[in-house]
Amino acid sequence: MLGGVCGLSLATECESCGRPMGSNMDHGAQNPDNPYCVHCTDLKGKLLPFETVYTRLVSSAMETRWMNKEKAEKFALEEMGKWPAWKDKVSQMPRPA
Ligand SMILES: [Zn+2]
Repeated sequence: MLGGVCGLSLATECESCGRPMGSNMDHGAQNPDNPYCVHCTDLKGKLLPFETVYTRLVSSAMETRWMNKEKAEKFALEEMGKWPAWKDKVSQMPRPA
């Protein structure tokens, strides 16, 4: 049914960091077909390197969730491990004890 749960069914989540993308502006290069958000892509909509996305996620977790660095790093890694873009990479990384 059209116009049911407003927004929910239309918002896609970034396949790199899980941020909800509610409008075209949130997609890489403002392209609604881009599976990644603006935070995870460069100006042309290309997915950024793992390290860049990771660093951004860590600092945004510290800023918006008031996490300390250690906690934010763990959070970022867990979050990225959920998404298709980094799933394999994260699962192959050695986990800190
Ligand atoms: Zn993203």
